[in-house]
Amino acid sequence: MTVDFLVLGAGMAGAAAGYFLSERGRVLILEREDTPGYHSTGRSAALYTETYGNETIRALTSASGRFFRAPPQGFAEVPLLKPRGVLMVAPAAEEARFEAAFELGRRFAPGLRRLSRAEALALCPVLREDWLGHAFLEPEAMDMDVHAIHHGFLAGIRARGGRLLTAAAPHAIARAAGLWQVHTAQGSFAAPVLVDAAGAWADEVAAAAGVAPIGIAPMRRTVLIVGAPRGLGVDAWPMVVDIAESFYFKPESGRLLISPADETPLPPQDVQPEEIDIALAVERIATATRLEIRRIERKWAGLRSFAPDRTLVIGPDPWAPGFVWMAGQGGYGIKTAPAAGAALAALACGEALPAELSALGLAPAQLLPDRLRAAQ
Ligand SMILES: Cc1cc2nc3c(=O)[nH]c(=O)nc-3n(C[C@H](O)[C@H](O)[C@H](O)COP(=O)(O)OP(=O)(O)OC[C@H]3O[C@@H](n4cnc5c(N)ncnc54)[C@H](O)[C@@H]3O)c2cc1C
Repeated sequence: MTVDFLVLGAGMAGAAAGYFLSERGRVLILEREDTPGYHSTGRSAALYTETYGNETIRALTSASGRFFRAPPQGFAEVPLLKPRGVLMVAPAAEEARFEAAFELGRRFAPGLRRLSRAEALALCPVLREDWLGHAFLEPEAMDMDVHAIHHGFLAGIRARGGRLLTAAAPHAIARAAGLWQVHTAQGSFAAPVLVDAAGAWADEVAAAAGVAPIGIAPMRRTVLIVGAPRGLGVDAWPMVVDIAESFYFKPESGRLLISPADETPLPPQDVQPEEIDIALAVERIATATRLEIRRIERKWAGLRSFAPDRTLVIGPDPWAPGFVWMAGQGGYGIKTAPAAGAALAALACGEALPAELSALGLAPAQLLPDRLRAAQ
């Protein structure tokens, strides 16, 4: 079967890429697992924030915010964003880092405002007064409905005649006669353009296709769900993040989702939480808050896969005709997905970036893999 675009991987990156490519031609997504979203996409903290990541990430996030707030008709039956807010907290000694984060943050999130210690404690009463030195609030930070976004993209692909095939692990990938040929147990497929949206496995997919890797580094991050403190309603709390990104916590259906914000480099795999990171989460939360973690109700870990410059890699490989990267989504792959997908489709088809991305100061050179090739 021959299509216009073959996409490997049906996480958020592959789904967003396929959605925007399906406006330009026939798309087939091949996913190795039985369920799309089984890996990083189904394991995130689901936060939309314009104050996290470098400037390229923030621009992609802001552009995506427009899509999330007003998605195309029929994209989803529920709102994609719900108010949450981020409370950034720092001990007194971290003043310089706090001020720098505040100044950078204001450029993309104009609503950012400093809070007094009393105001911060009113928003999250379990913070330790003797630990808290500085705080700012990003009121426009939102919880994302990851499932609705992911399935909105996949449904959009189907509506335009595209297909998703699960349990379709490629056992051979090769280019012949101007087409990428992908052989799976479910059949062989071909297209002039092959999009590598394999998350933690992006470099492995490239290597299997005979394309040089770009240095995608998967890092484990751990999440725990714990009971809320007795007698306190937590649903209206903002997400609380410390300035050193050494922990965060946020409400999750009447409970708290907490993370030690760990980053352990690992080979790509179905990653599981480790005791050491669970202990770190408990210890770090205890330093900054009066939360007592008695029982862990659920826990999981996921991989955040970064390019060497911690920026998404979007667009055609300069050395491999028709091989297009959609990789390095790191800790930003949900909140940047619509803009990243739109950029991918434009760059894969040799078009200029969409005007709303250029208007935010984004240029192809910030996204294309060439920037990493030059450094190799
Ligand atoms: C704990 C945690 C918290 C996070 N919090 C946030 C957050 O608050 N906000 C945010 O925006 N982002 C967050 N992220 C990051 C976000 O989850 C990721 O950036 C995003 O899910 C990456 O999507 P992906 O499609 O690249 O990867 P994945 O979802 O892992 O998808 C890749 C897919 O490729 C498939 N695949 C692999 N190899 C092959 C192959 N050879 N052939 C076919 N298919 C293949 C895999 O099976 C997988 O389904 C968080 C991540 C973690 C782990």
